[in-house]
Amino acid sequence: MNFLHKPFLIIVLFIGISFSCNPQKDITVSTTTTTSTSTPKVISTKKVKNIILLIGDGMGLSQVSASQFYNKNKSNFERFPVIGLSKTSSASDLITDSAAGATAFASGIKTYNGALGVNTDTTAVKTIVEEISKIGISTGIISTSSIVHATPAAFYTHTKKRSMYEDIALQLVSSDIDFFAGGGVKFFNDRKDKRDLISELEKNGFSVSTESLPTNTKPIFSNKQGYLLAPNGMPKMLEGRGDFLSEATKLAIESLSSNEQGFFLMVEGSQIDWGGHDKDADYLISELIDFDKTIGVALDFAKLDGETLVIVTADHETGGFTLASDERGDYNKIKPVFSTDGHSATMVPVFADGPSSEEFGGVYENTSIYDKMKALFFENNNQ
Ligand SMILES: [Zn+2]
Repeated sequence: MNFLHKPFLIIVLFIGISFSCNPQKDITVSTTTTTSTSTPKVISTKKVKNIILLIGDGMGLSQVSASQFYNKNKSNFERFPVIGLSKTSSASDLITDSAAGATAFASGIKTYNGALGVNTDTTAVKTIVEEISKIGISTGIISTSSIVHATPAAFYTHTKKRSMYEDIALQLVSSDIDFFAGGGVKFFNDRKDKRDLISELEKNGFSVSTESLPTNTKPIFSNKQGYLLAPNGMPKMLEGRGDFLSEATKLAIESLSSNEQGFFLMVEGSQIDWGGHDKDADYLISELIDFDKTIGVALDFAKLDGETLVIVTADHETGGFTLASDERGDYNKIKPVFSTDGHSATMVPVFADGPSSEEFGGVYENTSIYDKMKALFFENNNQ
């Protein structure tokens, strides 16, 4: 049985009954909410040493809800004690793109759609990576897109147009980033200018792999690490990407946490957005479940560590996605519906856990996420 067939994806809700088909697509439905594992709100007095920012590109509240309905009615989102809402409009448009959205998180400014690390007049603005690297904090970025795609790029580049991928790759080589993993190798080794950016990265102290994440052998953490594991974007979950996102996140945490000064790690579930653009619920939900698993990795580390703040949010919603009833209005049947193949203007949720997580409750502009992260890093370093 396949419950996720197209074009209509319908969940039949048998109250209190769980049933299974293929393991990825088990659906357990309950009308109760007693499965919540969220912890009581505790105002922490500990300082923030590390921040892990997980961005579900295109992930609105319906997407988060879908990740529960399609994941045995449980998810790591339930572990967060603090929830806020972020207003996503850019300087140029009511509906943002990922470039302006990520620039808001990385540099704390509203800019025009398509801009990365530059102001509305195309002047470069400092990124949080540049600012915290100066005080000795290590930084990493991971994405399931190419590493030069808008969201990861906003954290290390200053580019007036997001499509300048080869230029963005060049800027990664000389950036302050200490760890990166994603796709996009062709922008490094198959370039119009014939430069070999892989060897340039190695000259700059990186161990680079274009094959895989390390498996048995323990990586040498004294080196900076780069993983470019696909020509452009990484494969879809439905096409066998496997545990890349959660494994790369584990590896980055292991590596970056060796710095006593702390670390900042940005992890993007890039293809949640692509599922929305394709109006493909199977694609969207499989990417969400993968992202949810990765959130679990971050939360597990943070729980043990005690000085790590975990923030999960989105740059915008994609697809105008809703969990509607079926055509006959049967409230026991959910049919995911898309109202657009583009982005939407709806506010997106912000989830926070760890020291100072209480600061992320409320309704605020997306730029506030940068403001809060920066203040917490600098407060910790007494600067
Ligand atoms: Zn998009």
